[in-house]
Amino acid sequence: MVAPRLVLILGDQCSPDIAALQEADRTRDIVVMAEVAEEASYVPHHVKKIAFLFSVMRHFAEDLRADGWTVEYTKLDAPENTGSIDGELLRYATKHGATEVLATEPGEFRLIERLEDMPLDVLTFEDRRFIAGHEDFETWAEGRKQLRMEYFYRDMRRKTGLLMDGDQPEGGKWNYDHDNRKPAPDGLTYDGPMRFTPDQITQEVLQFVETRFQGSFGALRPFWFATTRAQAQQHLTRWLAEALPSFGDYQDAMLSGERFLYHSITSLYIHVGLLDPLEVCQAAENAYKSGQAPLNAVEGFIRQIIGWREYMRGIYFHEGPNYTSRNILQHDRKLPSFFWDAMTDMACIRDTVEATRDEAYAHHIQRLMITGNFALLAGIDPAEVHEWYLAVYADAYEWVEAPNVIGMSQFADGGIVGSKPYISSGNYLNKMSNYCKGCAYSVKDKTGPNACPFNTLYWHFLDRHRDRFEMNPRLAQMYRTWDRMAEDRRATVLSDATLFLDRLDEGQKV
Ligand SMILES: Cc1cc2nc3c(=O)[nH]c(=O)nc-3n(C[C@H](O)[C@H](O)[C@H](O)COP(=O)(O)OP(=O)(O)OC[C@H]3O[C@@H](n4cnc5c(N)ncnc54)[C@H](O)[C@@H]3O)c2cc1C
Ligand code: SF4
Repeated sequence: MVAPRLVLILGDQCSPDIAALQEADRTRDIVVMAEVAEEASYVPHHVKKIAFLFSVMRHFAEDLRADGWTVEYTKLDAPENTGSIDGELLRYATKHGATEVLATEPGEFRLIERLEDMPLDVLTFEDRRFIAGHEDFETWAEGRKQLRMEYFYRDMRRKTGLLMDGDQPEGGKWNYDHDNRKPAPDGLTYDGPMRFTPDQITQEVLQFVETRFQGSFGALRPFWFATTRAQAQQHLTRWLAEALPSFGDYQDAMLSGERFLYHSITSLYIHVGLLDPLEVCQAAENAYKSGQAPLNAVEGFIRQIIGWREYMRGIYFHEGPNYTSRNILQHDRKLPSFFWDAMTDMACIRDTVEATRDEAYAHHIQRLMITGNFALLAGIDPAEVHEWYLAVYADAYEWVEAPNVIGMSQFADGGIVGSKPYISSGNYLNKMSNYCKGCAYSVKDKTGPNACPFNTLYWHFLDRHRDRFEMNPRLAQMYRTWDRMAEDRRATVLSDATLFLDRLDEGQKV
């Protein structure tokens, strides 16, 4: 008899057409899926994220069994669980007399190296769920001085044919972002993502996570994520009909208490394999073609997926394993405790951290312009910022989280992802949200004990990084504004910022 091969399926590889499964033979091979302590705790993951992954995995294992596969599934509390992916592969290899493993490339160098070091023959296949393979990205990147997303995105449009009119972009423009910067709407016409009642499998997971991860960050309940492909598709269909038309207009808006606005909540479902990225984009394109959603919304949405999502993955693999330790601005401040407990007087941060704690979700502009902006202005160590983002969001996997945090948000890669740092004073946040109305600080005050901390930290950042950014054409105007201020005013701004940072370092409530 031919020895079986082990087919490794990781938690974020729950797609029926994942590469390793496509290469395997269900009459011969054995699928291995394992909930292991190492993956569940290498950063202090949000409990909702853990429960989501375990539930998706358990549902997927059932689907595979129903589809004729033999599945070895290790639950986290199984007494024989070795606690790591490689440990479980070795255990099942011994049990079944297997020497070969079929794997789909993990989305993290740490795990890729683990598999490479195994004393088994591991055949790793590229993850084909992405539109741009490694070779595509490398070909695109070759010889370019700057790896700008916009140009990569145009290639992806051409490659997929999405929103193309022959070889020209639909409507004559590649990018309709200009129309997508409206402040928060007065009344919402969408009541957020579809919420699912946990079934028997999810209930069991919830009870287990509740006990095992007691004291970990985040609210476990109410738990409403989709955990099967059918549910994720149901959610998508409703979102396309009810929210996509407004997605573009209010993409950058923030409203206190409105945690989802018109965002799609598709990232967590796409990453684990419940939705296929191309299928999602084609569905959005159909909404445009049938007149149900305007071009600015549909183009904006498709750009996030075939543009930003694919580009970020390309950057992660292009830059290599040391990307997460980049720190070009030499920021070394510790992450303030309010990133975990929301105990701050800054209403915008409080609201974002509370949403993060309750939902394992915050939308893009909150991640970028509230928590990310604050961390960058305050000079927090990007490695600590990276760990926080990786832990707290249900959609956080290193391949997508690291380029967003290290690159886009913290500028720690020196400008590979962004041509300028994403920073703002309170003015922008006030324009795009209603947070400032309920804040202990005054967004109008530029100095003094009541001044919005973003106002003083903004100038402190530009001043302390003058050598690096003064010549950046996108920041030159801000330096001219700063230089035109009276000298004593500049001194007050800087000393107020320093005072604030001192209080932060002393652990005082700010
Ligand atoms: C500091 C920071 C950290 C982030 N960390 C993550 C992360 O860990 N995981 C993650 O998936 N995204 C991350 N993002 C990107 C973005 O914020 C999320 O993808 C988005 O908020 C997910 O919510 P949604 O599905 O409602 O997205 P929508 O706003 O509805 O966008 C639609 C789709 O576009 C994709 N998308 C949008 N922006 C990006 C982006 N910048 N990079 C990659 N994909 C994008 C999402 O996958 C989503 O499916 C981060 C952004 C920042 C600024
Ligand atoms: S005043 Fe400043 S700290 Fe307060 S909510 Fe507005 S931007 Fe945030």
